[in-house]
Amino acid sequence: MKNKIYQKIFEKISIYLPKEWLKIVFFAGYTEGSYSIKFFVKNNKHDYVDCFALPGISKTELIKLFMDIDKILSADRKDQGWSIFTMIIDNTGKIEVEFEYDEHSEDLITYEENWREKYLKQIRNKLVKIIYLNTWKTEIAVYKDVNEEHVVTYYLMPTDNTKPELLQTLGFQKNESKKWILQLDSPDNYNLTWDDVIDVEEINGILAIICEKDGLLSVNPAFGGSGMTLDSYYMALGTYGDFGDYVQIICPCGESWYFNQRKIPYGAKYEVPCDKCGTLIMRKKV
Ligand SMILES: [Zn+2]
Repeated sequence: MKNKIYQKIFEKISIYLPKEWLKIVFFAGYTEGSYSIKFFVKNNKHDYVDCFALPGISKTELIKLFMDIDKILSADRKDQGWSIFTMIIDNTGKIEVEFEYDEHSEDLITYEENWREKYLKQIRNKLVKIIYLNTWKTEIAVYKDVNEEHVVTYYLMPTDNTKPELLQTLGFQKNESKKWILQLDSPDNYNLTWDDVIDVEEINGILAIICEKDGLLSVNPAFGGSGMTLDSYYMALGTYGDFGDYVQIICPCGESWYFNQRKIPYGAKYEVPCDKCGTLIMRKKV
């Protein structure tokens, strides 16, 4: 591709740039019959702003802009056979470009996620806590991320004391800046949002999200209920349970915890010792 094309794209975009900008990251991804074009602007706060969130441009104007850019790119794309074009421009005029030639029709969304992580480093993790997992005898760090669309996600990341085997156990790792990241499942499954999540804890061998909504506390598995590798892992450990398998036990000493009664037959009586004071608490599975 020729410099002239880069220049043309920049000229088109520059009309809409805020006065103070440091860097633009431009993305054009082509799949069979469609394209995805976008750009991100780094402002003085060192944050990237999505073009759709820039003040002073409407969505219609952006779509029109991207149609123009598509026309600028099309000849070169057909000639060179690339599928994804990335361009980074800084305010000194320095331009870096990168091309991807593999077809990404099937996995464009994943590709874009990884692209964001690579070029925008949008995962701005805020360390929530470090958990020592009794089940795995290892440690993980829980991070919270709020991205530009204000979507909250929680991640697990290895600490120095994480056993490497743990990572192999998990079926859904994300590789960001060469670090393993494990993404917790969305609380949507329980009609909750991440805003309702107040804590992440290991409870009876299951990593759980603890939620509070309208004054009600609930404990839900932090990893999905269907098909995740972790499910079978929990099963093997005998610790897996649905939310309904957990009963809250409150000891007279004030200690309270959730107990997994999955393995206990219906109607059976059982005793649970309090970890704090040793009292045996009698329960019956109903
Ligand atoms: Zn007690």
